[in-house]
Amino acid sequence: MIYFDNSATTKIEESVLQTYNAASLNYFGNPSSLHKLGLKAYELLETSRKQIAQLMGFKPYEVVFTSGGTEGNNWIIKGTAFKKREFGKHIITTSIEHPSVMNSMHQLEELGYDVTYLPVNKTGHVSAKDLKNAIRDDTILVSTMAVNNEIGSVQPIHEMARVLDDYPNISYHVDGTQAIGKNIDDKFIDPRVDFYTFSGHKFHAPRGIGFIYMKSGKQLEPLMAGGGQEKNLRSGTENTPAIAAMAKALRLLKDDEAKKAEKMLKLKTELIEHIQSLPNTHVFSKLTDDFAPHIICFTIDGVRGETVVHTFEDRDIYISTTSACSSKKGLESSTLKAMSTPEKVATSAVRVSLDENNTEAEMKEFITNLDQIHEHFQILN
Ligand code: PLP
Repeated sequence: MIYFDNSATTKIEESVLQTYNAASLNYFGNPSSLHKLGLKAYELLETSRKQIAQLMGFKPYEVVFTSGGTEGNNWIIKGTAFKKREFGKHIITTSIEHPSVMNSMHQLEELGYDVTYLPVNKTGHVSAKDLKNAIRDDTILVSTMAVNNEIGSVQPIHEMARVLDDYPNISYHVDGTQAIGKNIDDKFIDPRVDFYTFSGHKFHAPRGIGFIYMKSGKQLEPLMAGGGQEKNLRSGTENTPAIAAMAKALRLLKDDEAKKAEKMLKLKTELIEHIQSLPNTHVFSKLTDDFAPHIICFTIDGVRGETVVHTFEDRDIYISTTSACSSKKGLESSTLKAMSTPEKVATSAVRVSLDENNTEAEMKEFITNLDQIHEHFQILN
């Protein structure tokens, strides 16, 4: 089996699962309980928070646990919009965001908020200049992703942050879900950013756990009412085992991060250079610095993306159409559409997404299969 669908989700790491199991069995108390089992669980929770904060360069009290990227994005966007509604109802985002951002924006539009969707250029990047031009007196929030999940373009977070330096009252949110652990912190961690979203299952932690960064002094309106377990802002009994497992997964991820990214980039380079040698193909992910090392989006022209995915699947090789969220719905890639890619080309797009465990041998085997599949479809076409 070759698993090249790591941007959809990653396989849980064996030792991370062991942490999860040990925490479930030995730290099962409710962190809010007053007795010593509760205290033990509380200590594990806070130790995990400290570890995550330290690994990310945040303060422990700036780390708030969530159920993952979708919740983080929904909460930061709506929580900010509701909190600041008296100051304005204008929000700026981009036209290539994940559905958890897009659909949060659409819900806010129904509630009377006004949303500006920044365009992207041919390579899938937004421009800081467009951001500056879109800012209004009533703008309360800017929300942009760090790494696009469909083609891997890295957005100019620092440039946008410098624009926002002149507007201290506008909150800045960055969806870092696809960026964490890819040795590109220097491209998207910026002191001007007020909120980041992260999700554990993208880096070998269990599903259904994540965290947000919430800069000291910033506020969000709670979306979930209840006991207020997380800073009186997010309610629900904490998922202590998954949180401890996520802290462990992050520690492993950050170990030798540069070397792992270099390995992924080498495999990505090999694949892209090979696809470029094949006729009737397009490659959307580039080998330049403004692309992440793990995502390769390409087409075999004239063949629908889902056909290519299933043809690989028949050979025990797992890739996806452009994103896991849109693939089942048969939707055209929203990112490629925003890049003005003709629909006929965009519907052929598939995504290979690597992790640090993928090997040279796997890539060689993948390329051999790609050649055969490509040739097969050339004959059919
Ligand atoms: N944001 C981006 C950029 C993503 O790629 C994803 C998942 O694919 C999410 C948010 C949602 O994360 P989760 O699956 O943890 O809800």
